[in-house]
Amino acid sequence: MRRKKGIRFAAVMAAVLVALTALPQAAFAAVQTTQEMQADALKSLGLFEGTAAGYQLHRKPTRMEAVTMLIHLLGEDSAAKAGGWKHPFADVPDWAQNYAGYAYNKGLSSGVSAAGFGSDRDCTEAEYLTFVLRALGYDDRRGDFAWDSPYALAKRVGLINTETPLRRFSRGDMVSISYKALTAPLSSDTSIAVVDSLGYNYGVLKDKLIEKGAFTAAQYISATEVYAQGPKTVKAVYLTFDDGPSAKVTPRILAALEENGVPATFFVLGNMTEKNPQLVRQEYEEGHKVATHGYSHDYKYLYASADNLLSDIKKGNAAIDMALGFPYDNRVFRFPGGSYGRSKAFPEAVKNAGYTYYDWNASGEDATKKKGSTAKEIAASAAATSKGKQGDLIVLFHDAATKSTTADALPEIIKYYRDQGYVFRTLE
Ligand SMILES: [Zn+2]
Repeated sequence: MRRKKGIRFAAVMAAVLVALTALPQAAFAAVQTTQEMQADALKSLGLFEGTAAGYQLHRKPTRMEAVTMLIHLLGEDSAAKAGGWKHPFADVPDWAQNYAGYAYNKGLSSGVSAAGFGSDRDCTEAEYLTFVLRALGYDDRRGDFAWDSPYALAKRVGLINTETPLRRFSRGDMVSISYKALTAPLSSDTSIAVVDSLGYNYGVLKDKLIEKGAFTAAQYISATEVYAQGPKTVKAVYLTFDDGPSAKVTPRILAALEENGVPATFFVLGNMTEKNPQLVRQEYEEGHKVATHGYSHDYKYLYASADNLLSDIKKGNAAIDMALGFPYDNRVFRFPGGSYGRSKAFPEAVKNAGYTYYDWNASGEDATKKKGSTAKEIAASAAATSKGKQGDLIVLFHDAATKSTTADALPEIIKYYRDQGYVFRTLE
């Protein structure tokens, strides 16, 4: 028995080594996403600041972040920052005191209760569209739109492409709406408060912001030139976690990702998803990619035939749909044990069925040692296997009951990639 286990362990090691060396490095060269370009443009105009840990476009915006963005779009940043505002709210973080005070005094937001601004609550898409439509001079109180149903008007003025509400509203979506707002038509009714006190109708929002001195016309042109030049190439790193969710370790991985403001990809197992559906929901809600690793992880069954493999993937995806509570239609897969060294029939069958599969080209090697690795060793392995690689990195980790050191290693690992200039992405 012991000997057999040793052979199997060696086989796993061999598979890992093959995967690490065989993946074509030049195949990956990530470019900026549209939302990243829009965030850059807004930042250069002083309208979006991001956070100490980057733009965090994957995460949901808080109400406080949304109100701050609104004040920027109104061209009232300096007025708000001038300070001296009083407000009754006890839940406003230090950085936001002036913004909360300004919003309260100008009637932009009256909070969620007598003493609560609701600073840390999620801002919904409908709320944000309502904010932006008001910044453009449209008035729900006057009947331009219904505050809880801003979609039709928002589409008409070009803030969104479809009236179907998003399942999940992220800071990236907030950036996208804000960027589009710059060229959206202002309401022509000059009697309303958000239009300049002189009653001047500026046409589109960016002209009003230029007029107000938020930025100059030249700055606007150079900010939007980004698009003419096309997206910049970036070095992307994809942190991936296989075999979860696990009751003990997933929450710790999620906490580390949240604290450091980065997204990751979870290749979850169907049988584990059925045990911990709430953790899969949490992964999704916190802006990570939920992808499938199949249902059973039973090599014997999976690799007996392509039909077995496909039905196992389908079963895994059904478990994810059930956990999330809607047809998620996941198309991203990782082969248990990786795709290397398998008959070509398997990758072909997977591709023909409409899935994209990903192996890895770097690893925390947190499943290679029998006794388990320390957090230090995992961080060192991730760095050593990433060193010198051109292009993007897909880094393999595991999410299982015995992998608490993987969660412990994450802060150091994230810092390493950030220091090397990588942006953190999810596999799509
Ligand atoms: Zn696995």
